[in-house]
Amino acid sequence: MSLNGQWFTEEVPVAGSAFSLKVKRKLHDAQSPFQRIEVYETEHFGNLMTLDGMVMLTTRDNFLYHEMMSHPALFTHPNPRRVLIVGGGDCGTLREVLKHPGVQKAEQVDIDEGVTRASQLFFPELCASNNDPRAALHFDDGIKWVRDAKPGTYDVIIVDSTDPIGPAEGLFSKQFYQDCWRALGPGGIVIQQSESPLYHMLLIKNMYEAIRGAGFADVSTLFFPQAVYPSGWWSATLACKDQPFDGFREDAAAARPFATQYYNAAIHRGALAAPEFFLSQVTE
Ligand code: SAM
Repeated sequence: MSLNGQWFTEEVPVAGSAFSLKVKRKLHDAQSPFQRIEVYETEHFGNLMTLDGMVMLTTRDNFLYHEMMSHPALFTHPNPRRVLIVGGGDCGTLREVLKHPGVQKAEQVDIDEGVTRASQLFFPELCASNNDPRAALHFDDGIKWVRDAKPGTYDVIIVDSTDPIGPAEGLFSKQFYQDCWRALGPGGIVIQQSESPLYHMLLIKNMYEAIRGAGFADVSTLFFPQAVYPSGWWSATLACKDQPFDGFREDAAAARPFATQYYNAAIHRGALAAPEFFLSQVTE
């Protein structure tokens, strides 16, 4: 369906803001049991996927998010071998995780198979590692998956979910974090996309409270740009199961045997620097 010269717009009513991309045509439009999945061809951002009318990713700038959702956590854990991705149905995070040669198993659990099927069609570059023998794709509720996981199953859990509404709401609860705590092995780390520090500070504050209440020893947040998400300023919050964060494996990050477009040791270090207003709200 041609949309030449028209704009796709995502409005953020609570913030009185909106973000638009000029589109050429709509490539896909499907209603799954969980959400409406649409894909557009844009003029300057490649393909655009939206879920229930909210921007999920574009060809042009998804690297920012997928690299920051994977490499900081994996270079913080001393020896990440077993990784779980909750959500992540576009498979971009999975591809980044599998760049780490030390990872022995990467399980992805997205509730909606329709997202992965759309990504395979319109973002094939993100699905390039789906056939890696270390990868396992499951289509299930991540809340149930983590609840049913045996204690100590994972070294790193990456929660690459949609906003805390609908099926994703429970992924921001104390109960879910308690289940993550139990499913993580010693030194285990969970990282979760934690929305915009400018627009969603109350959510992040509640996340800190729930994560600490779930028994995690330390919590920290990474800040990074993400043009297509509300406010253009995004975050991912890390928590360590049983010890305070003490830097990250900088030498390994600097000597990493794979290419990135955004992540490097300096970016990692800088992303951990928290703004004053943020610290005043989350410091115990
Ligand atoms: N980058 C996006 C963002 O920050 O909003 C997230 C992208 S990823 C496509 C979000 C995924 O979370 C969707 O594919 C959705 O199906 C999945 N999801 C939502 N709730 C879930 C749940 N309870 N269990 C597993 N996957 C879930």
